[in-house]
Amino acid sequence: MAAHTAVMSMSKILNPFWGGRLGHTVKCTLLLSGQVIMYEMLILQPPPAKYGGRHTVTLIPGDGIGPELLNHVREVFRFSCVPVDFEVVHVNSALESEDDINDAITAIRRNGVALKGNIETKHTMAPSVKSRNNLLRTSLDLYANVMHCQSLPGVQTRHKNIDIMIIRENTEGEYSSLEHESVTGVVESLKIITRNNSLRIADYAFRLAREKGRKRVTAVHKANIMKLGDGLFLQCCREVASDYPDITFDSMIVDNTTMQLVSNPQQFDVMVMPNLYGNVVSNVCAGLVGGPGLVPGANYGRDYAVFETATRNTGKSIAQRNIANPTAMLLASCMMLDHLKLYGYASMIRNAILTTMNETRLHTADIGGQGTTSDVVQSIMRIIQSKGPLISEL
Ligand code: ATP
Repeated sequence: MAAHTAVMSMSKILNPFWGGRLGHTVKCTLLLSGQVIMYEMLILQPPPAKYGGRHTVTLIPGDGIGPELLNHVREVFRFSCVPVDFEVVHVNSALESEDDINDAITAIRRNGVALKGNIETKHTMAPSVKSRNNLLRTSLDLYANVMHCQSLPGVQTRHKNIDIMIIRENTEGEYSSLEHESVTGVVESLKIITRNNSLRIADYAFRLAREKGRKRVTAVHKANIMKLGDGLFLQCCREVASDYPDITFDSMIVDNTTMQLVSNPQQFDVMVMPNLYGNVVSNVCAGLVGGPGLVPGANYGRDYAVFETATRNTGKSIAQRNIANPTAMLLASCMMLDHLKLYGYASMIRNAILTTMNETRLHTADIGGQGTTSDVVQSIMRIIQSKGPLISEL
């Protein structure tokens, strides 16, 4: 259905509800024990719009529920006249060759921004076959994974009023893909923690905390056991914290963190952590606010940004059954619109999603309802239409 457009003044544009994009480029210098440490903290700017104000975004459907959810995003964007064109790049996870993923990476380098479904990583493939998702993040140096976990209206959960920002180091740690079995029966799997990457993710977390008016950053670690690796990560967080006297810094061991999260999640504000703990903590937090179908996630680097669902699920067993919850992917697309500075469109779609969440009868099975994916999407489009005229920010 055709949508009308009208210009909305910037003053009416709502603040992003979710989001972790930072907006400027800086070179950082830390003075530590008389030693000057310089590192680049380049904060991503979105690529400029082209072709009459339109943006081109790489779209990687991925596996399982990815293709259908991304089709719904395209449907909502078309309906809302969002000035975004998608360049679709398929990555076949059944192939051992890296050609597909390299094509996808090239497309993201060209467009600057991507929206993706999760690409399945088969455990049965040779150990030399790396996770395509991981390859994409490391090749593009998408070092900051950002997830904003917030209690949603209308979703029944054990804990209320959760509002946690999780900043996960996204390029090293346990995801180094460096494993070997030099002696039969003895596998060494390397966890890499570097000073530079720890400083930049810590700085990202504190900068985001300041920008979003947050009060506290908690570093999650296991430095009592991994004294050198996690010890370095924790030390870097402490060093960066000293540059942000307005923000309280504390730390927590990862096992206690998961226990605290499930018993008293409201105590957390911003959390920063190495890669694998980030994976675990993100999943716990997604569970706390209603599950993997609800929470969006973003991966930011110096030059590129890639948006996806926060817990990066494939959901193969529920694919093509019209039962997957489209909320997380649609909210990820709103984060992407914020990144492109299309704030009005982002707010319009996000508000329609949140209004739909209040309709319990439309809830999909993962949050206890009997609604279908298309019921949710139809409702979102009905709300967008009812709010018309729609917004143009060209
Ligand atoms: P499968 O991929 O076969 O579903 P899995 O263990 O690999 O199984 P994940 O893809 O990691 O599962 O997803 C974890 C669980 O969350 C699964 O039960 C999946 O069905 C569910 N899930 C993931 N995404 C969604 C969604 N958008 N809506 C509803 N349920 C979802």
